[in-house]
Amino acid sequence: MKIHEYQAKEVLRRFGVPVPEGIPVDTAEAAGQAFTKLGSPVAVVKAQIHAGGRGKAGGVKLVRSAQEAETVAKNLLGKTLVTHQTGPEGRVVKKLYVEKGSEIARELYVAIAIDRAVNAPVLMASTEGGMEIEEVAHKNPGAIHRETLHPVKGILPFQVRRLCFQLGLDKSLKSATATLNGLAKAFFALDCAMAEINPLIVTKQGDVLALDAKINFDSNALFRHEDVLGYRDLNEEDPKEIEAAKFNLNYIALDGSIGCMVNGAGLAMATMDVIQLKGGRPANFLDVGGGANKEQVTNAFKILLSDKKVKGVLVNIFGGIMKCDTIAEGVVAAARETKLAIPLVVRLEGTNVEQGRKLLKESGLKLETATSLDEAAQKIVALTR
Ligand code: GDP
Ligand code: MN
Repeated sequence: MKIHEYQAKEVLRRFGVPVPEGIPVDTAEAAGQAFTKLGSPVAVVKAQIHAGGRGKAGGVKLVRSAQEAETVAKNLLGKTLVTHQTGPEGRVVKKLYVEKGSEIARELYVAIAIDRAVNAPVLMASTEGGMEIEEVAHKNPGAIHRETLHPVKGILPFQVRRLCFQLGLDKSLKSATATLNGLAKAFFALDCAMAEINPLIVTKQGDVLALDAKINFDSNALFRHEDVLGYRDLNEEDPKEIEAAKFNLNYIALDGSIGCMVNGAGLAMATMDVIQLKGGRPANFLDVGGGANKEQVTNAFKILLSDKKVKGVLVNIFGGIMKCDTIAEGVVAAARETKLAIPLVVRLEGTNVEQGRKLLKESGLKLETATSLDEAAQKIVALTR
């Protein structure tokens, strides 16, 4: 689960990381008032969307008066911000963060993520702040310092000291130590999947300050973090994914044109691969699960069809625990209810497959069937071309 920058900063502040003072707002007038309240000669108005790269896209603006803050806010609110992370459709700005301006002497990078190769969190830091870590890794891999963190003990004092010296923070030890310790504590305590401060700055006064913050939480651990769940912003999520979660469907929207309904994550991946192999592009990943019922199948179908990019649907089900006739009933019901007008290819295999095929055939619906995945993918790709 992703959260906004202002929320990530609230979390980090709670764990002792030095963060500039700021006020989240959702109107232009409130932005002006926030400027006055902060009482700083310079403030920064920052668009709050679940994507980075806002600076280059015009989503981060320095302002020097309440009037200017209000004008800048008026321009940003409701605007679609297109950054290299939002995709071409961009994101509509609904919230802003007005923050005290900082005088930057140096910009650094620090983040913690899970390193699957060693089964532990790893802290990465570099002196190339403001730049994306992928870019640094590409251009100057030697500039990235790594510390593997103990999965139980977390960050150890010698690691903090080593990083401080590597980053040239020996004159800012107090705030640098608070930052590294706080970031690691937050990461462990809240089951983060990743926590990033980019840039982490050293001010002209020599203090270390988190100027930007990004935290992603492990969704599987959210059940033990009620407070974190309160940060969820449904505005920032795909409505199709929210709807799918209500019915316990594993759905992820993609950008192709072939809607897929599959049971089992492995089969869903394989189905997407075979579609690609045949020259098509999947519009989604959808695993209806092993024990899906008719209602779930119907809802899954509706969600697939609500995506205007979908030009055809491929249903690929292996009936094990789940029976093929149940799936067929669901598909028929959904196709009728949604007055399906695009090509549909169904491939069923497994328990009760004969009853399932019979139901499809007798439904009178215009659909194609296939016996192998290869054939099914070929058909739907041809029909949607
Ligand atoms: P991102 O582009 O979405 O990652 O947004 P950031 O919060 O990282 O802001 C982008 C850039 O704006 C930073 O790298 C800074 O250079 C600049 N910036 C942000 N806040 C301030 C500030 O308070 N003072 C100054 N001078 N620059 C800032
Ligand atoms: Mn940033």
